[in-house]
Amino acid sequence: MKLETGSLSLLYKALEQLETAFAELPDCDVEVNMEALQSTLLAAADRMRDNYPYFHPLYAGQMLKPPHPIARLAYMLSLWLNPNNHALDGGRASSAMEKEAVAELAQMFGWQAHLGHLCGGGTMANLEALWVSGRLKPGKMVAASAQAHYTHERISHVLKLPFQAVPCDRRGRMDLNALETELKRGKIGAVVATIGTTATGSVDPLPDLLALQERYGFRIHADAAYGGYYILANNLDSETRKAFDCLSRVDSIAIDPHKHGLQPYGCGCVLFKDPAVGKLYKHDSPYTYFSSTELHLGEISLECSRAGASAVALWATQRLMPLVPGGQFAAGLEKSRQAALLLFGKLESDSRFRTAFRPELDIIIWAPRADSASRTSRLSREVFESAAKRGLHLALATLPIELLGKSWIDMEWDQDQITCLRSCLMKPEHLDWIERIWQILDELTQR
Ligand SMILES: *Cc1c(COP(=O)(O)O)cnc(C)c1O
Repeated sequence: MKLETGSLSLLYKALEQLETAFAELPDCDVEVNMEALQSTLLAAADRMRDNYPYFHPLYAGQMLKPPHPIARLAYMLSLWLNPNNHALDGGRASSAMEKEAVAELAQMFGWQAHLGHLCGGGTMANLEALWVSGRLKPGKMVAASAQAHYTHERISHVLKLPFQAVPCDRRGRMDLNALETELKRGKIGAVVATIGTTATGSVDPLPDLLALQERYGFRIHADAAYGGYYILANNLDSETRKAFDCLSRVDSIAIDPHKHGLQPYGCGCVLFKDPAVGKLYKHDSPYTYFSSTELHLGEISLECSRAGASAVALWATQRLMPLVPGGQFAAGLEKSRQAALLLFGKLESDSRFRTAFRPELDIIIWAPRADSASRTSRLSREVFESAAKRGLHLALATLPIELLGKSWIDMEWDQDQITCLRSCLMKPEHLDWIERIWQILDELTQR
């Protein structure tokens, strides 16, 4: 196969356009030693060959999705300036583009007024949201489900906030009865609702969590790093849809454009419903060069220097494919979900495999059928390896008996966790490749 390079010619055009802004400046040529560059760059290309083909539909494993060509081009374009979105002096245009792109993300969740900015990724976005929660509810606990991203417990340690894990139901969603028992003790200040868990794409029951919030008065932070964009999809199951429909009522949201938003890595986003939390970031630094009264993104961000390139790429992507239901971007997500349901259906109705539960988004957990947890784990690893030899790349996931024990009751649980297979069908192209993927799985599990 060939990598897409045809669009690169546009980069020259765009650079010429950019150049016209600086035509008045005296020349200052940058010397490049092409020979040295070439040998070094080819050495890098050689090293990069040791990767799985993340961009290809036969890569159906971990959470990896290639950036859209427009994101790649816009990102590269901005590197000739290398803007820093810490302050307006370092990235005037790209800061304005960031504010526009972030407002579009907030709008997607139904927020007109908001405070938000891009950041390095979901970890930073969640860190800021929990930091704000901790400032507003000092000393109170953070609660998140046992299937929430492990980052929440770690972040809580960093912030010196006590952390409480809440058990999950058999579909990997927070058990609200268990949460309420904790709430009654009166120590919980913030609950993280995961909108698409990293392992299984499960969506916490947000409508009922909001009902609990009315009674117990805690903050809700939605970790929608993975699943947030699915608010645009028209093919969610009704319960999942209901959770997305009330996302606008939470206090803060983390979303990762570098997961489902077609962006290169280094692009997360944190959003707050109440812009007044901005005052918590207040500082008085003599180092930064805040030159105007307009909002500098560095004033509302824990990170200081940040790639303006990320904002330029996101802005361009959203301009090409607006974040609206029924649009081209939404159609891509719908295809991913359709692909997941299609593969899930095949696995579910075939006696060679076990599935856990119907996917809520586009992540499937499954395993070759065996009678014990240890044998299943071994078979999963065998399938993982023999699929890779045939060019199909899956991922392994080790999940606890607390999650899968309730689904796989006929299995001998001779160990307290089990290694399964996990496929994140994040690429719209997966839909057209399910038959091929199935054919490979069918062949290698014939015996
Ligand atoms: C990926 C992910 C994170 C962590 O985000 P990074 O971008 O990897 O830092 C947090 N929460 C959820 C639900 C995720 O899927």
